This record gives sequence, structure tokens and C-alpha cells, in this order.
Amino acid sequence: MKPALMNDTNGLIAALLRDLATVQTSQQSRWGYKRAAAAVRNLEEPIESLLQPDGTLRKIPQVGPSSSRVILEVLRTGRSETVERAVAASGKGSEVAKSRELRGNFLTRAQVVAALRNRKLRGPVPSAYRGDLQMHSTWSDGSQTLEAIITAGIARGYDYCAVTDHSYGLPIAGGMSMAKAIEQHLQTDALNETYRGRFRLLKGVEANIRADGSVDMEPHELNHFEVVVAAPHSALRSTADQTARLLRAISTPGVNILGHPRGRMYGSRPGVAADWDAVFETAARTQVAVEIDGDPARQDIDFDLARRAIRARCLFALDSDAHSTEELAYAETAIAHARLAGVPADRVVNTWPLDRLLEWALAARDR
Ligand SMILES: [Zn+2]
Repeated sequence: MKPALMNDTNGLIAALLRDLATVQTSQQSRWGYKRAAAAVRNLEEPIESLLQPDGTLRKIPQVGPSSSRVILEVLRTGRSETVERAVAASGKGSEVAKSRELRGNFLTRAQVVAALRNRKLRGPVPSAYRGDLQMHSTWSDGSQTLEAIITAGIARGYDYCAVTDHSYGLPIAGGMSMAKAIEQHLQTDALNETYRGRFRLLKGVEANIRADGSVDMEPHELNHFEVVVAAPHSALRSTADQTARLLRAISTPGVNILGHPRGRMYGSRPGVAADWDAVFETAARTQVAVEIDGDPARQDIDFDLARRAIRARCLFALDSDAHSTEELAYAETAIAHARLAGVPADRVVNTWPLDRLLEWALAARDR
């Protein structure tokens, strides 16, 4: 079954601008086209709606004149001869083709908005979403304070959020020592006291899945946290099968969520290669929720792979992976993928009331 995807000119144009970026010789113009591509991917509405009666384009921030010419070309002819010629002349055709392959099943913001509004889709409605279970704060590599997460969460209509700063195994991402984590938990307790009855901040962590599938924290350390996300951050360009790595991680006592399971990145890396049906079967058995990470550059797993996880009867976690309060909106990307896949709302742990969520999370320790 094909998902109810709208005709996505925004995605087509963004991809062409990325191709154009790839073949630039100057760093500055490469950045310029990349910025323009990102701006088009982030548009709330189909780009056709920005076309004015006189045939010009309404101004899009971050999109310069040469990018605008490509956009108009595509809107008029459905393709861009400018980009085709530039790619052919560059001798970088194979590099461009490779990065095209790494953009499959990424939604543009306009597609996300359409999927959230489309009433024909089954899957969780945005209003059923009670809280976000992966995000980063100033305690690791995020820019949002704990209190900012609470006020932003309340504004978004959430009941709870899990702050899942990186573990000490990932110093490159500002991973917290256990001493720091304990300090963070004291601050969390104080904030939860202040916001009692209105919002609950959950003590979480994003542990790293090492290359051998072990998690980079001791079992007694994991027990300090209410929500444990385990996610791969290395060996993401390898083509070797890594099924065993993921199976070991999701069989680890205390692990609740398999975070950005593939570790793919838009246009740049494919992420983990694995027998996904085997991974999902084990995740369903161990009751580890498979994450749909809503970071626009990740979208991991996507609606296509999510359908296989539905067939395996998996639980799902739909998370923003936000590093700032504005990025909390990335949860909508995850919800859009779940809607396109048709994930039953009750299988999404973010739709559960807090008591049920905590009970499920705690049960993982006795795995
Ligand atoms: Zn991560």
C-alpha cells in the first residue's frame, strides 16, 4: 500500500538544490545552496502556493536569486536543466547519485503538515500525544534548560517530557558523568515539586550502543533513570550486517527505547544495515519501543520501515530529539511518519498516561 503522500515539489526542489551544492567549487556557494535547500524543505506549504500572478516567486528567507531561478524552472517545466548541466559538467555525477539514494523517505515540512491534517490516515492524531521521550538540555549538548523544557512542554499541551541527555560514554556530545546526572536529578525533583499537577519532567538518558551491542552504562547506573533510550552513534557508514549489535542492545535490562535505530542522515549516510524483521520481532518480545526520531535530518525509522515494525507488533516512541525548545516541534515529523505508516495509537507509548508509561519503563529492569 502506498502512503497518502502529496505531490512533493518542495522535496524535489530541495534535492536539486542539494545536488547543485554538491558540485560547487567554493565553500560559500555550497553553503548558500544548502541553506536554500533547507529553507525549501522547511516551508509549511507547497511551494506552488508562493507563485505570484506575474510569474515571480514570493520571497523565501535564505533563498537567493540563483536558487530562485532553479525553483521557477522546476515550477515551469518539472525539472531543472540548470542543475542537470551543472552536474554533468562537474564530473561529480556519481557523488550526486549516491547522495540522492540517501534521501529516500524523508518528508518535507509541507508533507508533515499535510499528514497531520489528513483525516483519512489512521495512526495517532497530534492531540493524543502526551509527551516527548527524547531530547537534550544544557546538561549535555542541548541549548534548552530544564525549566524551558517544562514551560515549552506545557505550551505544547504535553503532560510530561523525558530529558535524555547523553551518557558519559559519548564525551563528543557532552555526555554527563553519573555525578552530573545525580545533580541533574536533584534539580529535576525541585522543578517537579514546583510544577506538581501541571507537568512532570522524567529523568532520562540517551545511552550509547557500542559497536558490539553493549550499552555504555552499568545496570546499576541505568537504574537511576526513569526512561532509558539506547541508540547507535558509531559504525553508521559500515555496510556490514549489524543485526546482532541491535539484538544485544534491545535485550539489555533497563533499556526502554531503541533510539534512531538506523542512525541514518539525510543525503550523507545510510546508517546501520540489519535484518529489521528480526530486530522488530525481538523488540516486540522485549517490549522495547522502536523510535521514530523526528529530527528532519534523521526521520529514523521512516513510515516504510515502520510498517514492518507494525506487522511485528512493536511498540513505538515518537520523539523530537530536540536540542532547543523550537526543535520540540520535530515530534510532529515523527507523528506524521506514524500516521503515514498507520501505527495504532495505543502502540505509541507517548499516548499513554504517565502511570502506564512509568510502569512499562520500570518493567524493563526485570527483563
Ligand atoms: Zn542520539
